[in-house]
Amino acid sequence: IERTLVLIKPDAVKRGLVGEILARYERKALRIVAMEQREVDASMADKHYHEHLDRDFYPALRSFVTSGPLVALVLEGDDAVSAVRLLNGATDGRRAEPGSIRGDWALSNRENLVHGSDSPEAAAREVGLWFPGLG
Ligand code: ATP
Repeated sequence: IERTLVLIKPDAVKRGLVGEILARYERKALRIVAMEQREVDASMADKHYHEHLDRDFYPALRSFVTSGPLVALVLEGDDAVSAVRLLNGATDGRRAEPGSIRGDWALSNRENLVHGSDSPEAAAREVGLWFPGLG
């Protein structure tokens, strides 16, 4: 059993896709351990994306994730980290596989609807950052 951190990003919230996206995770039999809608400030964005701070795309990414409410959640299940990344699809919505969340609903490299932790180590760090009270 593994846990992973998912963000349903502001573009998905604005487009009214939260329910459809959650349904895909639930139908995959991933269990929702925690979930909250949040407004994220620049400091939280910097902590979450600490490995991207020096990238040329980071300022635009930071404005995007702080542009409106997002939904943060922790999902649990067998191989949850890789299962969620498969459901999410490739980072660039223009190249993501049809049938994946990004493949079906995103057409952008930045506004790509969701985030999923990229390793069990990243998941542990991100779950601790977003849900410090979680055991
Ligand atoms: P995530 O970590 O959000 O699940 P990922 O691991 O598939 O996505 P990363 O390479 O870690 O992708 O990039 C993190 C996020 O930064 C992407 O989800 C996307 O929103 C944004 N991003 C990545 N590359 C670019 C780019 N070239 N231009 C603009 N935004 C980008």
